[in-house]
Amino acid sequence: MQPLIDNARTFGRRPAEFARLAEGQSPDVLFITCSDSRVVPALITGARPGELFELRTAGNIVPPYAPGHPSAEAATVEYAVEVLGVTDVVVCGHSHCGAIGALVRGDDLDAVPAVRDWLAHAAGAPAPADPADPACAEAVQQHVLAQLLRLRSYPCVQQRLASGRLRLRGWYYEVHTGAVREHRAGSDAFEAL
Ligand SMILES: [Zn+2]
Repeated sequence: MQPLIDNARTFGRRPAEFARLAEGQSPDVLFITCSDSRVVPALITGARPGELFELRTAGNIVPPYAPGHPSAEAATVEYAVEVLGVTDVVVCGHSHCGAIGALVRGDDLDAVPAVRDWLAHAAGAPAPADPADPACAEAVQQHVLAQLLRLRSYPCVQQRLASGRLRLRGWYYEVHTGAVREHRAGSDAFEAL
């Protein structure tokens, strides 16, 4: 922790670069990804402050749209789409994802009931585990597609898609190489950007 504190202590010595951020934000992209510490959206995309609106959840799960049941995830999506008017939503899964690995292996998560119940949101999405692939690439990619389908059930997303003002993108990020693949529409394939 101490190195992080040391950096934070000196981080504020750049007022010129950040002063304009007081005027507001107008990011073009909502970037939804896992909470995993190896996934750093600004590092992957080169985004500067103000350029990416982020939603991070365990396993980059987008919960089903549920009117009357407030959730941080739904509020974040709605704010990004309706208020900020983002033009693109990226759902980015990643290799070696602990959440997806637990799902495909059927791990006993009773010791972490909050994690167990959260991951239950994704039940049925992951593909069967391929024991030869510790990255769980196929399962993660199918899971990303399932979350994109969930997003389409959000009214604000539906409306913007219908009017051509929003694009949904599925990404797969390899934590051990830095490679990014994008889902190709009309197929199950994820190909190099
Ligand atoms: Zn993960």
